[in-house]
Parts: sequence; structure tokens; C-alpha cells
Amino acid sequence: MVAETEVRGAQLLIAGKYVDAASGEVFTVVNPAKNQPIARVAKGGIEDADRAIAAARKAFDEGPWPKMSPYERGRVVQRIADRIRERADELARIESLNTGKPITRSKGEILSGATVFDYYAGAGDKHYGETLPLGGNILNMTLREPVGVVAQIVPWNFPFSMASWKVAPALAAGCCLILKPASNTPLSALILGEICYEAGVPDGVVSVLPGPGGVIGEYLAAHPEIDKVAFTGETVTGAAILKASADTIKKVSLELGGKSPNIVFADADLEKAAAAAVPAGFGNTGQTCTARTRVFVGSKSYDNFMNYLVDQTEAYKVGDPFDTSTLMGPLISTNQYERVTNYIEIGKEEGAELVYGGTRPSALSEGNFLQPTIFGGVSNDMRIAREEIFGPVISVIPFMDEEEVIRQANANEYGLAGSVWSRDVAKALRVARGLRTGMVAINSNGGPGVFGPFGGYKKSGLGRELSMHGMELYTEVKNIYLDLNP
Ligand code: NDP
Repeated sequence: MVAETEVRGAQLLIAGKYVDAASGEVFTVVNPAKNQPIARVAKGGIEDADRAIAAARKAFDEGPWPKMSPYERGRVVQRIADRIRERADELARIESLNTGKPITRSKGEILSGATVFDYYAGAGDKHYGETLPLGGNILNMTLREPVGVVAQIVPWNFPFSMASWKVAPALAAGCCLILKPASNTPLSALILGEICYEAGVPDGVVSVLPGPGGVIGEYLAAHPEIDKVAFTGETVTGAAILKASADTIKKVSLELGGKSPNIVFADADLEKAAAAAVPAGFGNTGQTCTARTRVFVGSKSYDNFMNYLVDQTEAYKVGDPFDTSTLMGPLISTNQYERVTNYIEIGKEEGAELVYGGTRPSALSEGNFLQPTIFGGVSNDMRIAREEIFGPVISVIPFMDEEEVIRQANANEYGLAGSVWSRDVAKALRVARGLRTGMVAINSNGGPGVFGPFGGYKKSGLGRELSMHGMELYTEVKNIYLDLNP
């Protein structure tokens, strides 16, 4: 258990062993609720990446992991899930210290990470090929094989969840991997790596490599010995990874930004929709790629909805991440605080009406705390409605009719998620089908978790994580054609 004031030392986890960076360099990780150091972490560089790649390559090309039966691999993946549950309190505490997430949320995310490992523990032996009816004396079949050595680059907004979403299916498929956590939040990923070895993955199958993304992330994406790169983060970084991986024709999957619409028709249960709009916009301090940040409201119900929304937002408690009644913690860093407050200024300059929030809560003088912020009377072409702010800021945009709202919701470069609220289910379904997004919720802002596909259209990404779609990302398909003629 880490005390709140303790500054830990953390090393790189290369092929199951904790080691210093070859350069001997370290970097400092801070607690965003206080902006005080909590850890000094070895800063991985190119030489360390080379060591991790060589270990993963050897484990994949010569080791037992990819050849093991999927059922046996699944047993190891299940032990990872069990061990996450055993260490859940320790992990949740580290996650809250490092990200500022409310402790109840951190615990939930750690436990749902365990569920992701549960799911994939049973997935490897159910992800099989096909036989094709070609007739005659021909037998044609397809095999699913692990894609190889994968680099997995994850962001700071959901450090443990994003790592789990990537590590679990890769292991289930028989891949060997190098996990590159975000520099703001490397701690829970290192523990996940440790847990993989406690659960019995063979040497070299997993490495966790903290260090600057612009150096080692890009190096991994370009490296010829890496077969696939899986990334979650900003769209601009995703594009840099695509370019870096182009010469080696790597398999690439990307989960990128979003500016998701939350469409509330006048005939919806307005109180319920407003109550749900608050966590959908401000949950995780708005640092969520699926955050419903453009709230389109039927103009007839605009005033009513806004009253409910403000009431619910007032009750959304901002404060100490370790107070179990807190619902919203600080932003991840001083940089992110500046970025978000800058957008609030832009919103005011663009002529949007600041309905709620917009400043630091008066009782919280240290850390990167900001009030949940609502802009009203926003038009869809304002920057605050077009760009991903990645903070607790929602824009409420009035609309007249179904066709107009579909057009406006789609008039954005992102296409990750969306919600539709209406008592007319046929209308809600028409709108859901009209949205150019990877995920839509009706009369809810939720989703199916690990059991459904996660990913976006347009600049929101490439590929689908979670569910059995996640297994596709970590397997190749081999066709075998067999002539049975005597
Ligand atoms: P990035 O996309 O830069 O970072 C995500 C991960 O990619 C981190 O591990 C990072 O490492 C790594 N990385 C950075 N540059 C490269 C590169 N050139 N090649 C390979 N990997 C790289 O996001 P940031 O953390 O910088 O956040 C910036 C903004 O991105 C936020 O303000 C937010 O708007 C958005 N964002 C969106 C997310 C989403 O899910 N939609 C998630 C996170 C951020 P390192 O941490 O060392 O830089």
C-alpha cells in the first residue's frame, strides 16, 4: 500500500524483470489533486525499447506462449483477472493518486479491468476458423493465428482500463507485447505487468515500458520487428503512428478522439436525460473520448431541460479523490487545466452563454480542479462545439427537427459515440441509424462494456476493441487449401 505522501521509485518491467533505464534517467510523476510528486519512474529510451523488442521477439518466435493451447493460455489470463481482484484496493489507490479519479471510480475501473480478463480468458478457444464448402475433393479451411509481437500505447485518462482492453485479448490470442503507458500515469500499468508474471506468463511475453511517447512510442510504431501497434489517444498522435508504421505495413488499430452528440428530443423524459447528461459529460472530469459534449436539445424543451441540467450539475460534487462522496476529481495536469480553461475563454469570446461553472471551485485552491461547466445557446460551428476539449465542458445546442439534428450531429470530424433520447422508439432508431458513429445509446448514455464492440468512424479511429471483435485485432487469418484427390 502506498501512502499518499510517499514518493515511490519505479523501474521498467522488461521481460518480467524490473530494471533501470539504460540511460539511468528517471522522470517524476505527480498527484494532480495536489501537484506534488508521488513517484520517480525510470525513463525508457531506444536502448530499452530494443531490449523489450528482442525479449518479445524471442518469446514469440521460440517460446511456448503462442504454441500453447488457447485453453491453457486462457487459464493464465483467468489467473490475471483473479490477481487483479486480489490487488484491487492497492491498484485503485494508486490509480486515484496518479489520476485524481474519485476512489470509488478507480475501484470500479480496476474491477471492470478484471472482467475484461475474465472475458478473454474464455475467448481464445472460441475464436476459430471456418471450413469452406468448395465441393469435390477439396478441403479449404481458415486458421486463426496470433499476429505476433505487438506494441500497445495507452493514454492517461483510463490508464488501467485501456491497458486491460489491449493486454487481455493480445494474451488470449497468443501474442507477446510491449505496453507503453502514458508518461503522466505509468504506475498501474507496471503493476498489471507484474500481475501477468504472477499469473504465469512465460518470460518475455510482457514488457511495460514507461518513457516519452514521441521517442519510444514512435520507435515502436516504426520498428520492423513489431508486427502490430494498438493505440489509444489523440487523433493527431494516431496519425503520427500511422505514418511511422507505414513503411513496415504494420497492422494498426486506433482509438482516437470524439465529440459525441447527446440528442434530447422534446418528447424525452427530460429529467432522466438531464440526470444522465451530467456523468456523460463530466465523468472522469470530461477526460473521456466518448464524453457526450454536444448536447442537442429540442428547442421546445430547451428551458426545461436546462433547468434540470443545472440542478443536476450543482449536485455533482467536485473534490478530494479519496472522499467517497466525490464524483469529480481534478484534471490530469496543469497543462490540461490550461488547455480546458483556454477553451472556456474561447467559448465566451465566440458568444456562447456561460450557464454554469467556468472557474476553479472556491474551496479547492490547490491541484487542477475545475467546476463542471455548461455553455448554452451554442451553435454547432463554434470551436467549443467542434473540437475535443477533454475537460468538464458541455455545449448545449438547440435544434428544430429530426433531419436537422442528424445533419448537425454528423457535421464533425469525429464519429465515436452518441445518444438519442425520445419516447418515440422508431424516431430514436432512425436517428441512431443516421448517426455516423461507432456506438449509439438510446435513452441511455451507457454501453455494453466488454461484451460489445468499441470504436469509431471517421477520425475517431480504426478497428474495434472489446468483445470478440477485439480478438480480430490480435489474430491473422491463414487459408489452407487441401487437395484430397488420390
Ligand atoms: P497523446 O495522444 O499524445 O498520448 C497518448 C499516448 O501516446 C501516450 O502514451 C503518449 O506518450 C504516446 N505518444 C505521444 N506521442 C507519440 C508519438 N509521436 N508516437 C507514439 N506514441 C506517442 O495524448 P496526450 O497524453 O498528449 O494528450 C493530449 C490530448 O489528447 C489531450 O489533451 C486530449 O485532448 C487528447 N486525448 C484523447 C484521448 C482519447 O481517448 N480520445 C486520450 C488521451 C488524450 P507520452 O505520455 O509519453 O507522451
